Amino acid sequence: MLHVIMGPPAAGKSTFVREHAQHGDIIVDLDHLANVLAGKPMGNHEHTGDVLAVAKAARQAAIDTALTREVTVWLIHTNPSGKQRAEYTKHGAEFHTIDPGKKTVMARCKQERPYGSAIAAAKWYDERKAKPKKNARERGYTHHAHDVPRKRLLLAMRDGEPCWWCGLPMHKDKRRNWDGQALAADHSNAHGARNGEQPDRLLHSRCNSQRQDGRYDARRPALTGKHPSESLAPQAGAQALRRGEQDGDAAAFVWK
Ligand SMILES: [Zn+2]
Repeated sequence: MLHVIMGPPAAGKSTFVREHAQHGDIIVDLDHLANVLAGKPMGNHEHTGDVLAVAKAARQAAIDTALTREVTVWLIHTNPSGKQRAEYTKHGAEFHTIDPGKKTVMARCKQERPYGSAIAAAKWYDERKAKPKKNARERGYTHHAHDVPRKRLLLAMRDGEPCWWCGLPMHKDKRRNWDGQALAADHSNAHGARNGEQPDRLLHSRCNSQRQDGRYDARRPALTGKHPSESLAPQAGAQALRRGEQDGDAAAFVWK
């Protein structure tokens, strides 16, 4: 599962990731990559143009590689372009917008961040004002639209209920789940998240990742009798998941 964490500088994106990421997850943060590449301390937010350019290339390489694996990725991306958003959506990304409010952000930028971050923050808010349609769409991915319903679903769930995707029992204690991970909230309508609907059921975390945008629903393990750790393809082989017009996309998702 790819989580994209958006929001202005100093909004608390790193904190959000720290609070939600689990052992073994991949965290991609341009600031951290730039600091590692330049030998600067973790809290630094000032980078030269050269360092930023190299860090952006490293970020892209990290994302590309992570997306070929069944691993949870937390990607901090302040303001992805429309093209980047589309690319992330294609990979079944869940978007989280962290925004404590312009007043708080501007005050934090002035106090804690280098000159320029306040300008970047102001730009972030301006762009959102300029694109109200995108705003509304993104609201579907915010903390309240997703985490609160997930907790409600967890409360309502009978422990041991079968997972719609794989048919194996789902447990509130993540150690008892086949993938060892906490259950994930899913939209039975595959495009529900984008339409701002609330998630309406729980799946295993890895089952939720495998489902992507619902394109493989007809061959989910609950129907084929396979174990969810096995390939979704009818036969083994990299060509099996080929999907007409989106070859490149599907090739990145051969489950092993
Ligand atoms: Zn499952």
